[in-house]
Amino acid sequence: MKIVSVEAIPINLPFREPVSDSWGKYHSSNHGIVIVRSENGDYGAGEIALAWFGGAHALCQEVNERWAPRLVGLEVGDITRGCTIMDGFCAFSKRHLLAKAGVEMALWDLWGKQTGLPVHRLLGGKLRNTVPLTGGISMGTVESMVEVACRKAAEGYKELKLKVGLEEQTDLETLKRIRKAIPDSIRIRVDVNMAWTSAKHAKRLIDEMVHYGVQIVEQPLPSEQLKDLAWLREHTEALILIDEGVWDAEDAKRHLESGAADMLHLYISEAGGIRESRRIFELAGLYRQDCTIGSMPEGRIGAAASAHVAAAMPNLSRHASDIRGFTGYAEDVTVEELLIIHGELHVPDKPGLGVTVDWDQIEKLRVKP
Ligand SMILES: [Mg+2]
Repeated sequence: MKIVSVEAIPINLPFREPVSDSWGKYHSSNHGIVIVRSENGDYGAGEIALAWFGGAHALCQEVNERWAPRLVGLEVGDITRGCTIMDGFCAFSKRHLLAKAGVEMALWDLWGKQTGLPVHRLLGGKLRNTVPLTGGISMGTVESMVEVACRKAAEGYKELKLKVGLEEQTDLETLKRIRKAIPDSIRIRVDVNMAWTSAKHAKRLIDEMVHYGVQIVEQPLPSEQLKDLAWLREHTEALILIDEGVWDAEDAKRHLESGAADMLHLYISEAGGIRESRRIFELAGLYRQDCTIGSMPEGRIGAAASAHVAAAMPNLSRHASDIRGFTGYAEDVTVEELLIIHGELHVPDKPGLGVTVDWDQIEKLRVKP
């Protein structure tokens, strides 16, 4: 059974609440939905997630004009061959990994639908039915962050993740207040997003944060400071989780070899898809290390792909993943919802990625040229 078409469609997913950063305020997130069709009319769906930085239109056009003619004619299930073709297009820009992830996801979805098997079966079988998630606490006033922490704890999240790094006294005060407000059994992680630059300064802050129950520090220093990250890992009690430093398996290898990470936080989109994500997990496994999965944030299609990988990898960390970004969108393009119950994401079990495209939603959210 051959593939007869590959089409990438740019869409905007509207946020429930506008998202702000230092560049502005955003009401929607720019994505591409990839539809791969086979001779019998079956389809597979994937998602190109670009966060809110935009550019899906140009990336989709490139997939449609340059990639699709090379992929049409492949046998359904020829994932490795498809990836090898796309690797050629990804050689000069990591941004193309996002497009590769979207197309590759669609290839897995189509293969699963045709074989009647969920993607986690195609990856070797499901090791868990649910994936623990962090309860996310974005930056705000101390009061609002404490309030969100209490709400997430009440919803059943066992691990909370706070964004820190702007103002250290406020960070410490917030942590202290949150620690007092939630049960001791709930773990706390901080995400520094590379905001600190000195290893010694970072050590001083982490030592204080450990005192408030912080177990994991995500990307405390810029990703190129591998020696400093390795030093920090040796000289603090917290586990160092690498996020910004790891896109693909080459990045993972660099961090593992230099001893800069206790764990890796990978993204299906940044890695360039399901197959490359599995490579990162397996590479980390050789170093006896675990991984968690992040969120770009993908919508439900990308989140479903992340859930299948999480379900099938033996070294998914017992610490929580972040596959929850899809909850921030007011609308999406699948018929099915993804379930989060008591802080755990339920892994879809239907064939392929386990989600069905809502074609009316694609038309409604499509970016007009
Ligand atoms: Mg992060």
